[in-house]
Amino acid sequence: MVTENLSRRNTRQRKLVLEAIHWGDHPSARDIFDAIAKTERISLGTVYRNLIILEEAGEIVQVKSDPLLVRYDRRLGPHHHLHCKVCGRVYDMPLPYDAVFDREAAEKSGCRIEGHSITFKGICRACIEKSPENRF
Ligand SMILES: [Zn+2]
Ligand SMILES: [Zn+2]
Repeated sequence: MVTENLSRRNTRQRKLVLEAIHWGDHPSARDIFDAIAKTERISLGTVYRNLIILEEAGEIVQVKSDPLLVRYDRRLGPHHHLHCKVCGRVYDMPLPYDAVFDREAAEKSGCRIEGHSITFKGICRACIEKSPENRF
């Protein structure tokens, strides 16, 4: 049946999009499209459509560490990032999430706080190893 084929194709494309987002990596829609398009026929529009579906299904979240580019993350729990100013990549930071910070913010502001995220700015380890003068 036509609809059956269509839904199977949709499921497959959704899986391709999801699998293109590796843990610890934070690709943009364009990065995801470029990765899949190396071996599969897919359009950028299909990638965007599936990203919306996956986000609504709670399988991925948007990362807004980079004001110019929406990126996607498979790591759903609250965590912090580093945005490297040299290579532009966004990395997970190995720091615990501090829920006390949320409670304090709620108490001091009277606002309902649902969470926070910290984006560190700087230069990643790979870029420092490539050019050690970047450390300073
Ligand atoms: Zn870097
Ligand atoms: Zn992340």
